[in-house]
Amino acid sequence: MSDLTHVYAYVDARREEFVDLLLRYLRQPSISTQDVGVEVCAELVLGMMRDCGLEARLLPTAGKPVVFGQRAVDPGRRTVLIYGHYDVQPVDPLEAWETPPFEPTIRNGRIYARGAGDNKGQHLAQLLAVRSYLATEGALPVNVKVILEGEEESSSPHLARFVEEHRELLAADLVYTSDGPVHESGRPQVVLGVRGILYVELRARGPKSDLHSGNRGGVVPNPAWRLVEVLASMRDAHGRATIEGFYDDVRPLTAAESAAIARLPLDLAKVFASYGVTRLPPPEGLGYYERLMAQPTLNICGFASGYSGEGMKTIIPATATAKLDMRLVPDQDPDDVFEKLTRHVRERAPDVAVARLGSMLPSRTPIENPYTQAVIAAVAEATGEEPLVVPSLGGSLPDYVFTRILGLPSVTVPYANPDESNHAPNENLEIERYLKGIKICATVLRNVGAPEPATAAARGAAVA
Ligand SMILES: [Zn+2]
Repeated sequence: MSDLTHVYAYVDARREEFVDLLLRYLRQPSISTQDVGVEVCAELVLGMMRDCGLEARLLPTAGKPVVFGQRAVDPGRRTVLIYGHYDVQPVDPLEAWETPPFEPTIRNGRIYARGAGDNKGQHLAQLLAVRSYLATEGALPVNVKVILEGEEESSSPHLARFVEEHRELLAADLVYTSDGPVHESGRPQVVLGVRGILYVELRARGPKSDLHSGNRGGVVPNPAWRLVEVLASMRDAHGRATIEGFYDDVRPLTAAESAAIARLPLDLAKVFASYGVTRLPPPEGLGYYERLMAQPTLNICGFASGYSGEGMKTIIPATATAKLDMRLVPDQDPDDVFEKLTRHVRERAPDVAVARLGSMLPSRTPIENPYTQAVIAAVAEATGEEPLVVPSLGGSLPDYVFTRILGLPSVTVPYANPDESNHAPNENLEIERYLKGIKICATVLRNVGAPEPATAAARGAAVA
């Protein structure tokens, strides 16, 4: 494989220019939830893509356009599909910003601006990796495709549809994303998946209106008790969900995933202190990261019924509602879990209504996948540090559009500093990490293009 010293040197020599480019990008607001500047920003990054050597165009969706770029080298070569988002979070509270969010400012080696880390700095690094590679090597080692979405901060309402409708255009061997921060220890990390989610609301009805609990007590059923009974029936004394078949499709961790989890730093005492708790919840016998990454949850997010103001009010409430979220792991399917939960409730309390409020599929790319290994090696080479490997985040992101709809391995390598303050005032990105991101991406492209990472057979078995 070619030595990338000259690519790295090219990046270092253009430090100021690359920082200026990011400053220019950050001056353009693009708040999707408030519809501020998004289209103008799409045009701006379209031009930046072209300047980096990609053929680029805007592709419409039912919402904001996707900025698509590609550099085709050779159909026989592998293809890396890079994902990012050019929209940003709202800026309020504005008064908490030390300098205005869309007037990027450099202080202490960091660029302060809305979108610096989330996500403009991180995907501009990928575009500049393409440019740096072309400038030094003359040609890319892989075909590169880039999609930049304009609605990620509004929960990507049109991404799945877009991907479904552009399967051929997006055909690739690996999806590569940089978003979020490196590990809080400052070490690089490679993230391979997310948990999915199913969100439901249970509603029990009692009398037509709240009633006097003395005058009617004992003769009118109470919906709060009804709901408490249904909720209690969903979990056993050891904290395991009792909804029939709930765990059926939970995929056990592989040996490699368990080993990666065992290497993740953990200070339980510190975790407990920071949340003001003293123990892990039931069930027992599960490790901290195994719970977060490889186990589903059945969580009560909210419960509302009757009177909860000050002092006494003696009533039988008319209604009771509970909101539940279930974090799902591969290979659980939200449709299937919803059906199982609905059946559970119907059999025990047919009068309790179940409404589905939202869902997202889980996603996990195997650690053993050759492209995963190629990315891990690239991060180690470009940063000089062995990255932590995180099989899954606890939270939910639409990674399934790549792993399930396109059937591709999808790997995320965050570039931002742990204190990037994304979604908060004074969002910032360390300039060194931005430049390192360019080098990481260049190394990823080289490694994926190298003959070793994937044989044809391995490619067929790439995604589980
Ligand atoms: Zn964000």
